[in-house]
Amino acid sequence: MAAMIRAFRSSSSSTLTNYFIWRSLSTAASSSAAPLKSESFSPFIDTKDKNVQWVFLGCPGVGKGTFASRLSAQLGVPHIATGDLVREELSASGPLSKQLTEIVNQGKLVSDEIIISLLSKRLETGEAKGESGFILDGFPRTVRQAEILDDVTDIDLVVNLKLPEKVLVEKCLGRRICSQCGKNFNVAYINVKGENGNPDISMDPLLPPPQCVSKLITRSDDTEAIVSERLRVYYEKSQPVEDFYRSQGKLMEFNLPGGLQESWPKLLEALNLDENEDEQSAAV
Ligand code: ADP
Repeated sequence: MAAMIRAFRSSSSSTLTNYFIWRSLSTAASSSAAPLKSESFSPFIDTKDKNVQWVFLGCPGVGKGTFASRLSAQLGVPHIATGDLVREELSASGPLSKQLTEIVNQGKLVSDEIIISLLSKRLETGEAKGESGFILDGFPRTVRQAEILDDVTDIDLVVNLKLPEKVLVEKCLGRRICSQCGKNFNVAYINVKGENGNPDISMDPLLPPPQCVSKLITRSDDTEAIVSERLRVYYEKSQPVEDFYRSQGKLMEFNLPGGLQESWPKLLEALNLDENEDEQSAAV
């Protein structure tokens, strides 16, 4: 207990209240979370108990947000993306906004202290709404963040999404967001030859519906120069997080075979989850 408190205090100026927010969320979740067989990476998800505590790792542009948000809808747990929390703070033009804009537009990481404080606030709001369980996307991004998370809660599973670097860059450059409804799209037609015996990768664009076309915006950090810096920072700071979870036997590697249509059923299969009935009927 003392170690947990020390870890949280030393990483953030937040009070212990934040620590208890984590605890209460994780206690509620882990008491009902389905057990996962991490060695075989074939987690069993009970259809009644889905309060999972999962982390999504992966390079910029790999699609963490897309898959994490679909899974969160399917499992009924919140999808918490620290990148979204940072962007909300940027658009709020509060005191932090200028400092964060500079960091994000250089492709660098925000300090652990700021990220943990944003995350704690988000958890507090969720707790008030009765949320439990979560799928984290974009956190932890450094080994220090992973250690802090480990000190305050138990993560069931870490999904590491992978795509070749060339695809990642094209996906980031093709990314668009509807400024009105907030949905994400991608205008890139991707066709990349597989190297070193890997299969070719093709992805259809995810085009917006007519009502969103005139409202599309591009993230300010989705330029070629900033994407390449974000990738460099990922390899330096975030790849060690993969090793951190690999050594705990919690890491499930998932090489995306292609776009959403092709990858989604395979990801569900890897997670031992069934396609949602709503999604099946939507797909028909
Ligand atoms: P990406 O597409 O690169 O995965 P995100 O949307 O997750 O981007 O994050 C956008 C930016 O927000 C990052 O480049 C970084 O500056 C900041 N950020 C998000 N999560 C974290 C984190 N856990 N630690 C530090 N900085 C973060």
